[in-house]
Amino acid sequence: TCGICVEKCPFDAIEIINLPKELQNDPAHRYGENAFSLYGLPAPQDGQVTGILGPNGIGKTTAIRILAGELEPNLGRHDEDVDWDDVLEAYRGTELQDYIAAVRDGDVTVARKPQYVDQIPNTFDGNTRELLEQTNERGALDELVERLSLGPVMDQSIDDLSGGELQRVAIAATLARDTDFYFLDEITPYLDIGQRVTAARLIRDLAEKEDRSMLVIEHDLAILDLLADTLHVAYGEPGAYGVITAPKSVRNGINEYLSGYLDNENMRIRPDPIEFEEHAPRAASHTEPLVEYPDLTKSYGDGEFSLEVEGGTIRQNEVLGIVGPNGIGKSTFAKLLTGNLEPDEGDADLDLDISYKPQYVTIDQHMRVDAFLSSITDQFGSSYWNTEIAQPLQLERIMEQNLADLSGGERQRVAIAACLSDSADLYLLDEPSAHLDVEQRVQATSAIRRYAEQQDATVMVIDHDTYMIDLLADRLMVFDGEPAEHGRASGPQPMREGMNDFLANLEVTFRRDERTSRPRINKPDSQLDKQQKADGEYYYAP
Ligand code: ADP
Ligand code: ADP
Repeated sequence: TCGICVEKCPFDAIEIINLPKELQNDPAHRYGENAFSLYGLPAPQDGQVTGILGPNGIGKTTAIRILAGELEPNLGRHDEDVDWDDVLEAYRGTELQDYIAAVRDGDVTVARKPQYVDQIPNTFDGNTRELLEQTNERGALDELVERLSLGPVMDQSIDDLSGGELQRVAIAATLARDTDFYFLDEITPYLDIGQRVTAARLIRDLAEKEDRSMLVIEHDLAILDLLADTLHVAYGEPGAYGVITAPKSVRNGINEYLSGYLDNENMRIRPDPIEFEEHAPRAASHTEPLVEYPDLTKSYGDGEFSLEVEGGTIRQNEVLGIVGPNGIGKSTFAKLLTGNLEPDEGDADLDLDISYKPQYVTIDQHMRVDAFLSSITDQFGSSYWNTEIAQPLQLERIMEQNLADLSGGERQRVAIAACLSDSADLYLLDEPSAHLDVEQRVQATSAIRRYAEQQDATVMVIDHDTYMIDLLADRLMVFDGEPAEHGRASGPQPMREGMNDFLANLEVTFRRDERTSRPRINKPDSQLDKQQKADGEYYYAP
């Protein structure tokens, strides 16, 4: 026995070697006999942004429902009558005492942004203005609309918005409310880096200027770092138990998380650390070209949007990262390559088989995951496929589920597997990080890289998570211009030049964490920010 339970550990899957301090206490909540248990709760603070970093299925929503007063926690005594007075007694003398007293007295109000913004059109009929006006409680709506650039879509039906637009509408709707406590479940999916930084600043402003408590779950580590004052790491066994640690400084929390070892808890959460290279990888110049494409142009309608692509070479076996703001022509370029669109000028007849994972994954037939994947590849179930695809993408546990019942992260992993399993000359993945937690991003990254190396495959990845692009790409293709008006795409460049071009457009610089070499966004106009801009070193600063 591990010390928590008198008889047998209910979580067979887990071998608890070092019993963390948190697990020696009663849980905050247990859903029932042998059901999920949550240990520890996050502690929101007035005027602060509190981050939570951890996998899906670890109890983050459960914790929020408790803090919002929606779920009365049972302190693990699921068969007894436990009320808020008992909970208050259990948390007396802790950071949460006052907060829990307020919840007990019904004095806490909460605004919450849901994780899956794609589902908003199912629950709301009307246009953006109608949705936002319902939430305009602080009189801050105009400013939010302006800073999130929602002006052009105010009169559009919610049904017609893109994922990135829905995400920004959902953030505006949440921050426009007048409550004590704001809970945001992932702010970055479908947003480009500029939009991510803007959303982070809006959340910080609300905490600092209005003294509100913000609690944010986020898997984009660069943005989490920029956004949060303190960080709770959540770990455990998804579906079985979750532990929310005491708050850490953001820097330590992220560093410990990446290193795979939580210092105070004396807990290993991953066998290997996640490491960043300080210097850009040398371009793999020895590989043969897969394809050379000429300069291309494409415009829509009467030139409402036009794209110019500088010709370039895609090499065999490389992973080519593609970065740039939303609405700049990245998907248009992908469609030119796949032959789904004809260019106005230039010949893009590449004669390539391309396997494409679109940004918005819409596989939702009534079909089981295993049936779907085995219809794509006859490698399905082979030991190679299991090791290289199913395992790193954590598909085993969901093989028997219906596609229609999958969560956003599960659907994303199935779509990545489907894309890589197809036999093709070129694999093109549009935003594979969306809805994946950090662990899954790292595993998907290494699955994609290994696949490229072992199958002699060439992969192009469009993504806005700088950490993922850094870990994944050999070279970079940068799009810039004026979103929705005109875009320009550079040929593939080495990582250092590509990152410099890309970040110079955004005016964002990164420094290196002293301990882990992890890239961190510099404060605008800080000494380092100015120095690096002057040196033209935006990312791989010496
Ligand atoms: P997260 O927000 O970190 O993804 P959740 O708090 O939603 O995690 O869920 C944690 C675990 O608790 C999951 O395994 C989920 O199935 C389980 N769970 C959530 N709600 C209930 C409930 N009402 N009854 C039983 N189990 C539940
Ligand atoms: P990205 O992938 O970089 O977000 P896209 O290539 O999807 O950008 O779109 C670039 C611009 O072209 C956007 O303003 C978009 O609204 C517009 N656009 C995309 N497809 C069409 C189309 N079929 N007809 C007219 N405009 C389009």
